[in-house]
Amino acid sequence: MATSRNPNDTTTGQGTRSMSRTPERSGAGVPVPPPATGGAVPARLVEPGRDYHARHENLLVPNRMESAHVLLLGDGSLGSLIASFLVRAGIGSLTHYDNELVEETNICRTAYGERDIGRPKTEALNDILRAIRRDVVLEGRQEDIHATSDEALVAEIAKASVSIIATDHPPTQARTAALSYFRVPAIIPGVYAKGTGGEVVLTIPDESACWHCVFAGIRTEEQPDRGTEDYGLATGQLKAEPALGTDIANVAVAAAKLAIAVLNRGTGLEIEKMVQPERNVLFLGNSIDWAFRDYNEAFWARTIRRPDCPVCSKRPALHARATTRPALT
Ligand SMILES: [Zn+2]
Repeated sequence: MATSRNPNDTTTGQGTRSMSRTPERSGAGVPVPPPATGGAVPARLVEPGRDYHARHENLLVPNRMESAHVLLLGDGSLGSLIASFLVRAGIGSLTHYDNELVEETNICRTAYGERDIGRPKTEALNDILRAIRRDVVLEGRQEDIHATSDEALVAEIAKASVSIIATDHPPTQARTAALSYFRVPAIIPGVYAKGTGGEVVLTIPDESACWHCVFAGIRTEEQPDRGTEDYGLATGQLKAEPALGTDIANVAVAAAKLAIAVLNRGTGLEIEKMVQPERNVLFLGNSIDWAFRDYNEAFWARTIRRPDCPVCSKRPALHARATTRPALT
Protein backbone atom coordinates (compact mmCIF):
# COMPACT_ATOMS: atom_id res chain seq x y z
CA MET A 1 0.00 0.00 0.00
CA ALA A 2 1.12 3.47 -0.72
CA THR A 3 0.69 4.33 2.95
CA SER A 4 3.72 2.23 3.86
CA ARG A 5 5.92 3.86 1.29
CA ASN A 6 9.08 5.49 2.49
CA PRO A 7 8.68 9.20 1.83
CA ASN A 8 12.26 9.21 0.56
CA ASP A 9 11.48 6.57 -2.03
CA THR A 10 11.59 8.42 -5.32
CA THR A 11 10.38 5.55 -7.43
CA THR A 12 6.85 5.84 -8.73
CA GLY A 13 4.32 3.12 -8.31
CA GLN A 14 6.88 0.75 -6.86
CA GLY A 15 6.22 1.25 -3.19
CA THR A 16 4.98 -2.25 -2.54
CA ARG A 17 7.13 -4.08 -5.01
CA SER A 18 10.31 -2.82 -3.40
CA MET A 19 9.53 -5.07 -0.44
CA SER A 20 10.05 -8.20 -2.50
CA ARG A 21 12.87 -6.92 -4.64
CA THR A 22 15.86 -9.19 -4.90
CA PRO A 23 18.41 -7.99 -2.35
CA GLU A 24 21.14 -5.91 -3.88
CA ARG A 25 24.66 -7.17 -3.36
CA SER A 26 27.47 -5.13 -2.02
CA GLY A 27 30.94 -5.38 -3.44
CA ALA A 28 31.82 -8.03 -0.83
CA GLY A 29 28.94 -10.22 -2.00
CA VAL A 30 26.99 -9.75 1.22
CA PRO A 31 23.26 -9.36 0.56
CA VAL A 32 22.05 -5.86 1.36
CA PRO A 33 18.36 -5.66 2.20
CA PRO A 34 16.22 -3.34 0.12
CA PRO A 35 15.54 0.10 1.59
CA ALA A 36 13.21 -0.07 4.56
CA THR A 37 9.65 1.01 3.91
CA GLY A 38 7.40 2.61 6.49
CA GLY A 39 8.60 5.67 8.33
CA ALA A 40 6.49 8.79 8.52
CA VAL A 41 2.81 8.28 7.88
CA PRO A 42 0.86 11.27 6.62
CA ALA A 43 -1.48 12.65 9.26
CA ARG A 44 -4.39 12.54 6.85
CA LEU A 45 -4.43 9.64 4.48
CA VAL A 46 -7.51 10.27 2.39
CA GLU A 47 -6.96 13.47 0.53
CA PRO A 48 -7.47 14.16 -3.14
CA GLY A 49 -4.22 13.86 -4.95
CA ARG A 50 -2.49 11.92 -2.20
CA ASP A 51 -1.03 8.53 -2.80
CA TYR A 52 -3.80 6.71 -0.99
CA HIS A 53 -6.12 6.75 -3.98
CA ALA A 54 -3.45 6.39 -6.65
CA ARG A 55 -4.73 2.93 -7.54
CA HIS A 56 -8.34 4.13 -7.60
CA GLU A 57 -7.84 6.56 -10.46
CA ASN A 58 -11.05 6.90 -12.52
CA LEU A 59 -12.63 4.08 -10.53
CA LEU A 60 -14.09 6.19 -7.73
CA VAL A 61 -14.13 9.81 -6.62
CA PRO A 62 -12.05 10.22 -3.44
CA ASN A 63 -14.14 13.17 -2.20
CA ARG A 64 -17.28 11.11 -2.45
CA MET A 65 -15.71 8.40 -0.34
CA GLU A 66 -14.25 10.76 2.22
CA SER A 67 -17.57 12.50 2.76
CA ALA A 68 -19.48 9.22 3.02
CA HIS A 69 -20.95 8.10 6.32
CA VAL A 70 -21.95 4.45 6.39
CA LEU A 71 -24.32 2.82 8.85
CA LEU A 72 -23.68 -0.89 9.34
CA LEU A 73 -26.11 -3.08 11.25
CA GLY A 74 -24.35 -6.29 12.24
CA ASP A 75 -20.61 -6.89 12.64
CA GLY A 76 -20.74 -10.60 11.85
CA SER A 77 -19.15 -12.42 8.94
CA LEU A 78 -20.76 -10.29 6.23
CA GLY A 79 -20.63 -7.03 8.17
CA SER A 80 -17.00 -7.23 9.29
CA LEU A 81 -15.81 -8.08 5.78
CA ILE A 82 -17.93 -5.37 4.14
CA ALA A 83 -16.66 -2.79 6.63
CA SER A 84 -13.03 -3.64 5.93
CA PHE A 85 -13.55 -3.28 2.16
CA LEU A 86 -15.33 0.06 2.57
CA VAL A 87 -12.67 1.48 4.86
CA ARG A 88 -10.00 0.42 2.37
CA ALA A 89 -12.06 2.14 -0.36
CA GLY A 90 -11.82 5.37 1.64
CA ILE A 91 -15.12 6.01 3.44
CA GLY A 92 -14.90 8.86 5.92
CA SER A 93 -16.92 7.44 8.79
CA LEU A 94 -18.78 4.36 9.95
CA THR A 95 -21.29 3.76 12.71
CA HIS A 96 -21.86 0.08 13.42
CA TYR A 97 -24.05 -1.95 15.74
CA ASP A 98 -23.55 -5.39 17.26
CA ASN A 99 -24.03 -6.79 20.74
CA GLU A 100 -22.10 -10.06 20.45
CA LEU A 101 -18.62 -11.12 21.47
CA VAL A 102 -16.11 -12.64 19.08
CA GLU A 103 -16.08 -16.43 19.43
CA GLU A 104 -13.56 -18.96 18.20
CA THR A 105 -16.11 -20.20 15.66
CA ASN A 106 -16.17 -16.76 14.03
CA ILE A 107 -12.51 -16.67 13.07
CA CYS A 108 -12.72 -18.85 9.94
CA ARG A 109 -15.07 -16.48 8.11
CA THR A 110 -14.84 -12.97 9.49
CA ALA A 111 -12.30 -10.17 9.66
CA TYR A 112 -11.52 -11.11 13.30
CA GLY A 113 -8.48 -12.96 14.57
CA GLU A 114 -7.71 -15.20 17.54
CA ARG A 115 -6.59 -12.18 19.56
CA ASP A 116 -10.17 -10.87 19.38
CA ILE A 117 -11.85 -13.88 21.01
CA GLY A 118 -13.96 -12.77 23.95
CA ARG A 119 -13.99 -9.11 22.92
CA PRO A 120 -17.09 -7.23 21.81
CA LYS A 121 -17.26 -7.35 18.02
CA THR A 122 -17.72 -3.57 17.93
CA GLU A 123 -14.41 -2.99 19.73
CA ALA A 124 -12.49 -5.61 17.79
CA LEU A 125 -13.80 -4.27 14.48
CA ASN A 126 -12.81 -0.72 15.41
CA ASP A 127 -9.25 -1.90 16.00
CA ILE A 128 -9.16 -3.80 12.73
CA LEU A 129 -10.50 -0.83 10.77
CA ARG A 130 -8.16 1.67 12.44
CA ALA A 131 -5.25 -0.59 11.56
CA ILE A 132 -6.33 -0.30 7.92
CA ARG A 133 -6.76 3.50 7.98
CA ARG A 134 -6.17 5.48 11.11
CA ASP A 135 -8.12 8.53 9.93
CA VAL A 136 -11.46 6.75 9.54
CA VAL A 137 -14.03 7.99 12.07
CA LEU A 138 -15.64 5.04 13.85
CA GLU A 139 -18.47 4.61 16.28
CA GLY A 140 -19.23 1.10 17.50
CA ARG A 141 -22.49 0.66 19.38
CA GLN A 142 -22.63 -2.47 21.48
CA GLU A 143 -26.40 -2.70 21.35
CA ASP A 144 -29.03 -5.25 20.47
CA ILE A 145 -30.71 -3.67 17.45
CA HIS A 146 -33.77 -5.78 18.19
CA ALA A 147 -34.22 -3.71 21.36
CA THR A 148 -33.26 -0.35 19.83
CA SER A 149 -36.23 1.94 19.27
CA ASP A 150 -37.44 2.93 15.83
CA GLU A 151 -36.74 6.56 16.70
CA ALA A 152 -33.11 5.85 17.59
CA LEU A 153 -32.58 3.83 14.44
CA VAL A 154 -34.27 6.42 12.25
CA ALA A 155 -31.96 9.09 13.70
CA GLU A 156 -28.93 7.00 12.72
CA ILE A 157 -30.33 6.08 9.32
CA ALA A 158 -31.02 9.74 8.50
CA LYS A 159 -27.36 10.61 9.06
CA ALA A 160 -26.05 7.90 6.74
CA SER A 161 -25.12 8.07 3.07
CA VAL A 162 -26.01 4.40 2.82
CA SER A 163 -27.18 1.81 5.32
CA ILE A 164 -25.98 -1.77 5.20
CA ILE A 165 -28.26 -4.22 6.91
CA ALA A 166 -26.11 -7.26 7.62
CA THR A 167 -27.88 -8.65 10.64
CA ASP A 168 -28.68 -12.36 10.86
CA HIS A 169 -31.96 -11.55 12.56
CA PRO A 170 -34.66 -11.55 9.84
CA PRO A 171 -37.27 -9.56 11.80
CA THR A 172 -34.67 -6.84 12.41
CA GLN A 173 -33.63 -6.99 8.77
CA ALA A 174 -37.25 -6.47 7.70
CA ARG A 175 -37.77 -3.67 10.18
CA THR A 176 -34.59 -1.74 9.42
CA ALA A 177 -35.13 -2.19 5.66
CA ALA A 178 -38.56 -0.59 6.11
CA LEU A 179 -37.16 2.24 8.22
CA SER A 180 -34.41 2.90 5.66
CA TYR A 181 -36.53 2.73 2.52
CA PHE A 182 -37.69 6.33 2.15
CA ARG A 183 -34.57 7.83 3.71
CA VAL A 184 -31.32 6.53 2.30
CA PRO A 185 -30.12 3.85 -0.10
CA ALA A 186 -29.93 0.53 1.71
CA ILE A 187 -28.00 -2.63 0.95
CA ILE A 188 -29.32 -5.84 2.42
CA PRO A 189 -27.06 -8.88 1.93
CA GLY A 190 -27.82 -12.44 2.97
CA VAL A 191 -26.10 -15.81 2.75
CA TYR A 192 -28.00 -19.04 2.21
CA ALA A 193 -27.68 -22.01 4.54
CA LYS A 194 -24.31 -23.75 4.19
CA GLY A 195 -23.11 -20.90 2.00
CA THR A 196 -24.59 -22.39 -1.19
CA GLY A 197 -25.15 -18.84 -2.40
CA GLY A 198 -26.46 -15.51 -1.35
CA GLU A 199 -28.22 -12.37 -2.38
CA VAL A 200 -27.71 -8.63 -2.19
CA VAL A 201 -30.72 -6.31 -2.33
CA LEU A 202 -30.30 -2.60 -3.08
CA THR A 203 -33.14 -0.22 -2.33
CA ILE A 204 -33.10 3.40 -3.49
CA PRO A 205 -35.69 5.76 -1.99
CA ASP A 206 -38.70 6.11 -4.28
CA GLU A 207 -36.80 4.61 -7.24
CA SER A 208 -36.62 0.90 -6.54
CA ALA A 209 -38.91 -1.72 -5.10
CA CYS A 210 -38.41 -2.07 -1.38
CA TRP A 211 -37.07 -5.14 0.43
CA HIS A 212 -40.61 -6.27 1.22
CA CYS A 213 -41.72 -6.01 -2.41
CA VAL A 214 -38.68 -7.97 -3.49
CA PHE A 215 -39.25 -10.94 -1.28
CA ALA A 216 -42.95 -11.11 -1.84
CA GLY A 217 -42.35 -10.98 -5.60
CA ILE A 218 -39.37 -13.20 -6.13
CA ARG A 219 -39.25 -15.90 -3.54
CA THR A 220 -41.14 -19.08 -4.12
CA GLU A 221 -41.34 -22.33 -2.26
CA GLU A 222 -38.21 -23.34 -4.13
CA GLN A 223 -36.30 -20.34 -2.85
CA PRO A 224 -32.86 -20.88 -1.38
CA ASP A 225 -32.75 -21.84 2.25
CA ARG A 226 -31.79 -18.92 4.47
CA GLY A 227 -31.34 -21.35 7.38
CA THR A 228 -33.39 -22.14 10.40
CA GLU A 229 -34.25 -19.97 13.32
CA ASP A 230 -32.26 -20.46 16.47
CA TYR A 231 -35.09 -21.41 18.75
CA GLY A 232 -32.67 -21.62 21.64
CA LEU A 233 -32.50 -17.85 21.54
CA ALA A 234 -36.25 -17.51 20.93
CA THR A 235 -35.74 -14.22 19.12
CA GLY A 236 -36.06 -15.32 15.52
CA GLN A 237 -32.32 -15.07 14.96
CA LEU A 238 -30.93 -17.41 12.35
CA LYS A 239 -28.90 -20.31 13.64
CA ALA A 240 -25.27 -20.00 12.67
CA GLU A 241 -24.89 -22.49 9.82
CA PRO A 242 -21.67 -23.92 8.46
CA ALA A 243 -20.39 -21.94 5.47
CA LEU A 244 -16.98 -21.42 3.93
CA GLY A 245 -15.45 -18.03 4.56
CA THR A 246 -14.84 -17.76 0.82
CA ASP A 247 -18.55 -18.22 0.10
CA ILE A 248 -19.58 -15.56 2.59
CA ALA A 249 -16.88 -13.26 1.24
CA ASN A 250 -18.30 -13.68 -2.28
CA VAL A 251 -21.50 -12.03 -1.06
CA ALA A 252 -19.66 -9.46 1.07
CA VAL A 253 -17.53 -8.33 -1.86
CA ALA A 254 -20.60 -7.77 -4.03
CA ALA A 255 -22.36 -5.84 -1.27
CA ALA A 256 -19.31 -3.66 -0.64
CA LYS A 257 -18.89 -2.91 -4.34
CA LEU A 258 -22.56 -1.98 -4.59
CA ALA A 259 -22.07 0.44 -1.69
CA ILE A 260 -19.11 2.04 -3.49
CA ALA A 261 -21.25 2.29 -6.63
CA VAL A 262 -24.06 4.00 -4.70
CA LEU A 263 -21.60 6.47 -3.16
CA ASN A 264 -20.28 7.34 -6.63
CA ARG A 265 -23.67 7.67 -8.28
CA GLY A 266 -23.88 10.73 -10.52
CA THR A 267 -20.13 11.00 -11.08
CA GLY A 268 -20.21 9.56 -14.59
CA LEU A 269 -17.79 6.82 -13.63
CA GLU A 270 -18.25 3.30 -14.91
CA ILE A 271 -19.07 1.93 -11.47
CA GLU A 272 -22.35 3.82 -11.22
CA LYS A 273 -23.80 1.58 -13.95
CA MET A 274 -23.99 -1.07 -11.25
CA VAL A 275 -26.84 0.91 -9.71
CA GLN A 276 -30.02 0.25 -11.67
CA PRO A 277 -33.07 0.68 -9.46
CA GLU A 278 -35.31 -1.51 -11.63
CA ARG A 279 -33.08 -4.56 -11.22
CA ASN A 280 -32.01 -4.35 -7.65
CA VAL A 281 -31.47 -7.92 -6.51
CA LEU A 282 -28.24 -9.77 -7.17
CA PHE A 283 -28.12 -13.51 -6.67
CA LEU A 284 -24.70 -15.09 -6.24
CA GLY A 285 -24.10 -18.82 -6.50
CA ASN A 286 -21.40 -20.63 -4.61
CA SER A 287 -22.49 -24.10 -5.67
CA ILE A 288 -24.68 -25.94 -8.19
CA ASP A 289 -27.94 -25.40 -6.40
CA TRP A 290 -31.34 -23.74 -6.86
CA ALA A 291 -31.07 -21.50 -9.96
CA PHE A 292 -27.29 -21.75 -10.18
CA ARG A 293 -26.10 -24.09 -12.91
CA ASP A 294 -22.44 -23.77 -12.07
CA TYR A 295 -20.10 -22.38 -9.42
CA ASN A 296 -19.84 -18.61 -9.16
CA GLU A 297 -22.82 -17.89 -11.37
CA ALA A 298 -24.52 -14.62 -10.63
CA PHE A 299 -27.55 -12.86 -12.02
CA TRP A 300 -29.65 -9.79 -11.31
CA ALA A 301 -33.41 -9.83 -10.96
CA ARG A 302 -35.80 -7.10 -12.04
CA THR A 303 -38.38 -6.16 -9.49
CA ILE A 304 -41.52 -4.06 -9.34
CA ARG A 305 -43.09 -2.03 -6.57
CA ARG A 306 -46.24 -3.71 -5.42
CA PRO A 307 -49.22 -1.36 -5.15
CA ASP A 308 -50.28 -3.07 -1.93
CA CYS A 309 -46.84 -3.11 -0.33
CA PRO A 310 -47.08 -2.22 3.37
CA VAL A 311 -43.82 -0.27 3.17
CA CYS A 312 -43.25 1.52 -0.12
CA SER A 313 -46.85 2.12 -1.18
CA LYS A 314 -47.54 4.35 1.79
CA ARG A 315 -45.08 7.07 2.55
CA PRO A 316 -46.23 7.66 6.14
CA ALA A 317 -45.93 3.99 7.11
CA LEU A 318 -42.30 4.39 8.09
CA HIS A 319 -42.69 3.53 11.69
CA ALA A 320 -44.75 0.43 11.14
CA ARG A 321 -42.88 -2.42 12.71
CA ALA A 322 -42.45 -5.19 10.22
CA THR A 323 -41.77 -7.91 12.71
CA THR A 324 -42.43 -10.83 10.44
CA ARG A 325 -41.23 -11.73 7.01
CA PRO A 326 -43.90 -10.92 4.38
CA ALA A 327 -45.97 -13.81 3.10
CA LEU A 328 -44.54 -15.55 0.08
CA THR A 329 -46.52 -15.56 -3.11
ZN1 LIG B 1 -42.47 -2.26 -1.23
